[in-house]
Amino acid sequence: MPKILLVEDEPSLRMLLHDNLEQEGYEVHAVADGLAGLDAWAEQSPDLIILDVMLPGRDGFSVARNLRKQDTRTPILFLTAKSRPKDVVRGFEAGGNDYLKKPFGLEELLVRVKVLLTDRRLLPLKADDQTIIQLGETVFDTRRRQLIFTASPPVQLTIREAELLQLLIQQQGEVVPKTYLLELIWGDDGFLNSRSLDVFISRLRKYLRSASDLEIANQRGVGYMLVVY
Ligand code: CA
Repeated sequence: MPKILLVEDEPSLRMLLHDNLEQEGYEVHAVADGLAGLDAWAEQSPDLIILDVMLPGRDGFSVARNLRKQDTRTPILFLTAKSRPKDVVRGFEAGGNDYLKKPFGLEELLVRVKVLLTDRRLLPLKADDQTIIQLGETVFDTRRRQLIFTASPPVQLTIREAELLQLLIQQQGEVVPKTYLLELIWGDDGFLNSRSLDVFISRLRKYLRSASDLEIANQRGVGYMLVVY
């Protein structure tokens, strides 16, 4: 019987999730804050952690970062009311594997729990996005964060590289302002972040050299545009 650790401070939601997960056949241990969550994780070695982001004391991101220092395998499903892209990125960077926005349907939660427990490769998932995106002759697998080329080996992207590419894909054929990319990925558009963005863009460009029909165009001082020929 898979063991699930549930960290949720709202008593009614905690109880509801606890009972429903138990009914599905899981062994559930439910706690109300991050510290109790870390203790329970150490004691119980759960197979999956459902972690609320907005918790009293240490928030879910901080709990996840702490967990990931010792445990890179146990899947973490974040629950949160926040839905800004920046928070989604933060969630994945903190080591989350999936993300569910409140309010969510119980069925949706159960499906994700099942997927996370089955998929032992534990690659980050993006809640809202397509898994497979066709870019000319190239395929971008957002789940595995892989660019799959027709004539050369696939390239594995880091979380930030993938996030950046996805933002460019969403507005494919338009110049995406640097300030927008910086706000969404780093949370502010300071000089250092701006330099980092340039570095990330250079890396993406290098990868895209394997595709003859893809290019990231630069409009000086304004932004970047993904072009599919
Ligand atoms: Ca909460």
